[in-house]
Amino acid sequence: MWGWVKKVGRAVAKGVRGIVRGVSEVFSAVSWFIHRLIGIPELIASLAGIRITKKLRLKVVILPDASGSPLATTAAVEEVVDEAKRVFYRNRMKVRIIPPVDEETIVSHFAGSVPDYVRRPQCGPPGWAERYKGKGRWYARHSAPYSGRGTATVFVVDDVHEGPEDKNGCFLGLVDYGYIDSGALRPPAMPTPVPVPVVTATGSGAGASAVSVLTAAVKAFTPGVKMTLAHELGHACDLLHRTKGGKTPGNLMRPGKDERTHHLTDWQIAWVRSSHRVRYF
Ligand SMILES: [Zn+2]
Repeated sequence: MWGWVKKVGRAVAKGVRGIVRGVSEVFSAVSWFIHRLIGIPELIASLAGIRITKKLRLKVVILPDASGSPLATTAAVEEVVDEAKRVFYRNRMKVRIIPPVDEETIVSHFAGSVPDYVRRPQCGPPGWAERYKGKGRWYARHSAPYSGRGTATVFVVDDVHEGPEDKNGCFLGLVDYGYIDSGALRPPAMPTPVPVPVVTATGSGAGASAVSVLTAAVKAFTPGVKMTLAHELGHACDLLHRTKGGKTPGNLMRPGKDERTHHLTDWQIAWVRSSHRVRYF
């Protein structure tokens, strides 16, 4: 008897959660659409070339690894934040990236420990599915304190992926948080390895392998990778991927990091400036 009651109770709870999820999804979509309507005058003005400086609030939170050490250094994150600032202001866009309301800095370290499953978020359709599970709820809860006035919160995580495919970052629509993969940041400065000739019977030495590890790490941090945060903020401000067309071969919103440049079209600039994240106050 009790087993049966529990079963019904669980089914009802699941149903209620589903309804709450559906209502909240519809609410987010409607609110997004209303903000887009409100942004129409700004869209037109931006297209006409009238661009008065606006603000985009950003928080980047560095998560700790399993042993409690930060997944990235403040300096490494600041490097990609500075790159995003350049792209959003100098690129004829005139959007200043600033810290959230009542915060003095953009970059901070997460205080406390993090459940293991949180460090490996997914992007694309599996990422959408995760939004209402424990992982999504964790990110929603820890980005909420910063979320005033359109703030985008980006977490530096261990690994961003979409199924088996590795990603450098992700920012899905209708939520206020996204992620960048700690692998898409410059690795901490290592002392230049001095190749130590080790004379062995086979002629190989430990020095050689240290050199190749360093070369691989430096190679991975290409200009396109450096723009990962700027690219994800483009998604946060409603930009989609741009795969072809246009007079300029590169674009910030190219899905592949190697074709990524600072370039944005006038339409993309106007679309960012009229998004709900970009504000005058
Ligand atoms: Zn993208």
